[in-house]
Amino acid sequence: MMNDATPRALIVEDEPKLAQLLVDYLTREGFACESLADGRDAIARIRAFDPSIVLLDLMLPGQDGLTICRELRTFSTVPVIMLTARIDEIDRLLGLELGADDYLCKPYSPREVVARARAVLRRTRQWSSAPASAATLMLDRDRFEARIGDRAIALTPVEFRLLATLHERPGHVLSRTRLLDAIYLDHRIVSDRTVDSHIKNLRRKLAETAPDFDPITSVYGVGYRYEE
Ligand code: CA
Repeated sequence: MMNDATPRALIVEDEPKLAQLLVDYLTREGFACESLADGRDAIARIRAFDPSIVLLDLMLPGQDGLTICRELRTFSTVPVIMLTARIDEIDRLLGLELGADDYLCKPYSPREVVARARAVLRRTRQWSSAPASAATLMLDRDRFEARIGDRAIALTPVEFRLLATLHERPGHVLSRTRLLDAIYLDHRIVSDRTVDSHIKNLRRKLAETAPDFDPITSVYGVGYRYEE
């Protein structure tokens, strides 16, 4: 019996056996499921079905998962788990800032997919239960995800580390050198002006997400400070 509390999963997967396996598992776990095999139908179905979560294969006939994910992010914050056939694809996908919430590599166990889907839903529900007016920054360090209220901010790993480092010490001025140490784990040689350009991008992305939210200030000749 479907009601408002029933989570709805949309499975976009062109391998019929895999799709059916996911439908079976997720249905057994209490999800209402729909599946489709052609990427061209995905966006229309997302709009019509209004899923709580989308499981999206990367390689699809018609339209690939990457294009679908980008397009759906222009109108929806529905959680997306991206399914790929190659583990080395995941790094590249992360770099593209698609706005997917998690990535899984084939072959995956349906049990793992269900566990990840539940975890993603838990996280996004926690976030969305916060009042929208409270411009509070939330960081998930395990997943390199940042949100203001219920809105996700698409950050690069470097921008995320920069933001997390400043956020850890509110009110404290951190020098460019200190920030460089924190954001480049491999200690490559970069100019400390690199920090300035990352900060600029970071502030722009924060402003795009929440126009009145500008917690990072520059302290002339010293570095940067975070204060909400
Ligand atoms: Ca496929």
